[in-house]
Amino acid sequence: MPLKTGKCFLVGAGPGDLGLVTLRAKQLIEQADVIFYDALCNPEMLAWTGEDVEIVFAGKRAGEHALSQDEINALLVEKAGQGKAVVRLKGGDPFVFGRGGEEAKALAVAGIQFEIVPGITSAIAAAAYAGIPVTHREQNSHVTFFTGHEDVTKTENAIDYDALVKLGGTQVMLMGVERLDAITREMLARGSRPDLPVALVRWGTTARQKTIVGTLATIAERVRASGFEAPAIAIFGDVVLLRNELSWFEDRPLFGKRIVVTRTRRQAGVLSSELRALGGDVIELPTIRIAPPTNLREFAELVQDAHSYDWIVFTSPNGVEAFFEIFFKLYADTREIGAAKIAAIGPATAQRVRDFHLHVDMQPEEFVAEAILREFEKLGGIENLKVLIARAERARDLLPKGLAGMGAIVDEAFAYRTVAETSDVTGARRRFVEEGADLITFTSSSTVENFLDLKLPWPAGMKVASIGPVTSATARERGLTVDVEAKQHDIPGLVSVIRQFFGS
Ligand code: SAH
Repeated sequence: MPLKTGKCFLVGAGPGDLGLVTLRAKQLIEQADVIFYDALCNPEMLAWTGEDVEIVFAGKRAGEHALSQDEINALLVEKAGQGKAVVRLKGGDPFVFGRGGEEAKALAVAGIQFEIVPGITSAIAAAAYAGIPVTHREQNSHVTFFTGHEDVTKTENAIDYDALVKLGGTQVMLMGVERLDAITREMLARGSRPDLPVALVRWGTTARQKTIVGTLATIAERVRASGFEAPAIAIFGDVVLLRNELSWFEDRPLFGKRIVVTRTRRQAGVLSSELRALGGDVIELPTIRIAPPTNLREFAELVQDAHSYDWIVFTSPNGVEAFFEIFFKLYADTREIGAAKIAAIGPATAQRVRDFHLHVDMQPEEFVAEAILREFEKLGGIENLKVLIARAERARDLLPKGLAGMGAIVDEAFAYRTVAETSDVTGARRRFVEEGADLITFTSSSTVENFLDLKLPWPAGMKVASIGPVTSATARERGLTVDVEAKQHDIPGLVSVIRQFFGS
């Protein structure tokens, strides 16, 4: 439900991993009228927004004018003043080096209602994802967070490095990677141990995470040599050594591999989350979207007559969903489906049927149309039986032709069509073009067609994974080389060959 009175929410967007966003943040993003975000927020969360949301990028991006803090404050006040629900997303926690306090003050002064939603700060999370606990009973009993952003020669309000060194414990520095040289020198000059372990974690909790470990004496040089840049935190303290035993995130099988998912935004979820769980850096770049069929009335009429068929064949979960959406608009009782038996291609399709509490009478072991024909043959033929096939517009003819060839009376019910996805709310296409990818996944012929129709440049070395022979054939027809093909033609099958492909 949209919020009526204007309000501004200063919301922690977490350190990067989408799973580390709070439930409250997600709920507010879903309901927001306006969203402000910046470079440290994972843009994938913008996909949670509603239809008419206004999205404002408030960070710095090469070649574009960045909004100043005063301009941001003024915009937050202005938009909330118009009665809108304004969500100001901030990387990590809004009140940890996030200038959230300044924004809250501006709102308070302007008399605008506001709410603070804390987030998981990178200061703790990036360390944890590098296998470094910020406290460890045997080693330290306090943690200090400090900013490396300051000029070490500044005198007023400056960080007291003497005190920092004396305090010991774990010290976590945010910002200021570029000043690491001066900072480590300062610490050494104030008497800190040269062999004090130091780790830097860049883009912590994301699939781009990188960790460098050294000592107070060596780290600045290592960072320079590896061209390591912001955003990164630095952890100073003996807890860094625990990483030798506790590193976990960077050790997962697909860690560091960037993989593109081209399915519809609604369906991408399972594939993306399985790949992410294995450490993959997933770019969701939906190329298609499911739309109602061109002739919805005709489809509805066939659905209405469903009970007059001997068999109803479903070839995809989308077809099942579209069918029952209409069916339950027409009928209040599932029994109106009559004595029609149900066939389903693929376990996901069969599961969708079962979700409606209907029995699947036929489910071939192989997930292609040919297998359905063989199953019907095994049944001893289907001469003169009435078969309804609920499927996408422009699908292959093989199934209706094959069934008709066996003497069945076949009707095709076009349940939906796939159309090109035109919006790109998360900026995935830009990221794809700028950063490239290791592998692209295609889960249907239409994902291949529509991806190629986008005419995005093909990143050097990007490999192709396909869900099955039909999709692979389309890819080859369009000039692609298929490097990996699922042996089992569904999402778990695809994930499993991708794992093998990357050698784990
Ligand atoms: N409010 C944020 C910090 C903002 S200051 C928080 O609570 O995390 C910006 C600094 O945060 C960056 O320069 C970097 O030091 C750190 N930072 C933010 N996200 C990070 C990430 N994913 N990995 C490593 N450092 C990160």
